[in-house]
Amino acid sequence: MDEKDAIVIVGGGLAGAKAAEGAREAGWEGPIRLVGAEPYLPYERPPLSKGLLQGADGPQAALVAKDGWATANRVELLLGAPAEAIDPGRRTVRLAGAELRYAKLVLATGATPVRPSMPGAELDGVLLLRSLDDALALRDRLMPGARVAVVGASWIGAEVAASARQRGAEVTLLGRGSVPLEHALGTEIGGFYGRVHADHGVTLRLGPDVAGIEGSDRATGVRLADGETVPADVVVLGLGVRPSLGLAQAAGLAADDGVLADARLTTSDPDVLVAGDIASHDHPLFHGRVRVEHWGNALNQGLAAGANAAGADRPYELLPYFFSDQYDVGMEYSGWPTPFDEVLVRGSLDNGEFVAFQLRDGVVVGGANVNVWDVNEHVQDLVRAARPVRRDVLADPGVDPADWVRLAVEAD
Ligand SMILES: Cc1cc2nc3c(=O)[nH]c(=O)nc-3n(C[C@H](O)[C@H](O)[C@H](O)COP(=O)(O)OP(=O)(O)OC[C@H]3O[C@@H](n4cnc5c(N)ncnc54)[C@H](O)[C@@H]3O)c2cc1C
Repeated sequence: MDEKDAIVIVGGGLAGAKAAEGAREAGWEGPIRLVGAEPYLPYERPPLSKGLLQGADGPQAALVAKDGWATANRVELLLGAPAEAIDPGRRTVRLAGAELRYAKLVLATGATPVRPSMPGAELDGVLLLRSLDDALALRDRLMPGARVAVVGASWIGAEVAASARQRGAEVTLLGRGSVPLEHALGTEIGGFYGRVHADHGVTLRLGPDVAGIEGSDRATGVRLADGETVPADVVVLGLGVRPSLGLAQAAGLAADDGVLADARLTTSDPDVLVAGDIASHDHPLFHGRVRVEHWGNALNQGLAAGANAAGADRPYELLPYFFSDQYDVGMEYSGWPTPFDEVLVRGSLDNGEFVAFQLRDGVVVGGANVNVWDVNEHVQDLVRAARPVRRDVLADPGVDPADWVRLAVEAD
């Protein structure tokens, strides 16, 4: 088989690794080359803010591609080798000292955390969390009694706060809004998470913007816009990510806040597909573009992009899915990245076991199941139904979730 008959995958994260598996599962017999900037076998990022940060797990636990994976899937790994440029006309990818030809290219370059330009953001002790190296560096600083300020009360910030507390650090969680996770879950469910953190000893200081990090050679505190300073030995910035679009844009692929792709994950170049955090794809059910920065999307979209690169012709139509673990609170969420105007709760926020449905104009657009399991597929069924629901049925803990669509939508 000639080199030009290869599938080349750029990005050695979850989406990239799954693209290789997807191509093999779809019957691709040609070479597959996986190009990764990091020197590690592909790994998953969720453990980085959970078990690995807590010290419960080592890096091995995060590997997507365990030993033997590359051999089993006949994948040639080029690790620690960032792709420098793509030439779509010649169908080549350039690395330091090498050029790879491709029949199909899958881009899965993921995202990069935002380091704001605020004063002090570059000081020693100010850390970001995206990579395994980041997580190991942060873990080393999360000593019992260390004063840790987490800036950003969304998913990464909330999980880091929980893990830091579990390591015995003194934690302050800073961020916009009135409660953690407000943007994603609203004030009622965000308030539940706020109480969980407070019960575990986290100091919540939400509302004022962060004006800067104090310290001369290393961080000593976080200065807030209202004038207060929160003392800190370690500052973790969890202020979101930006998709890593540089390669795609330089190659002339259409992009806005992600690389634009059709329902089959094909970009403006028919020989280039995308998956994971960088992909902004035309979702057949959402009737618009969706870019999702979640584990489930990287996993399933990677598989789909790989399969389509291998000649399958499958639209990607799974709903966005997300999970989070903080202390003993586990949660799954499915739904659209769309505003909601109502939250309907089934169960009890007091005992911490509930399903929170997000509604817009009476239609379920998303839902979080918190310490309640085996129901998320039924939340997804409601979202897919895309019709007004009977609130009394969904709020009733006596109704079997398997009957939600039948009783709350179809019987309406
Ligand atoms: C700490 C943390 C915790 C998370 N927890 C959860 C969770 O609990 N639940 C959930 O649903 N999601 C979670 N996520 C989000 C989830 O991990 C991401 O959505 C997922 O990792 C995206 O996968 P990806 O393969 O698209 O990108 P990435 O995982 O970012 O992988 C992209 C890879 O491409 C490489 N790359 C970039 N440019 C190049 C280049 N030019 N050449 C070669 N390689 C390149 C990068 O180095 C990287 O290794 C978490 C993320 C983080 C950081």
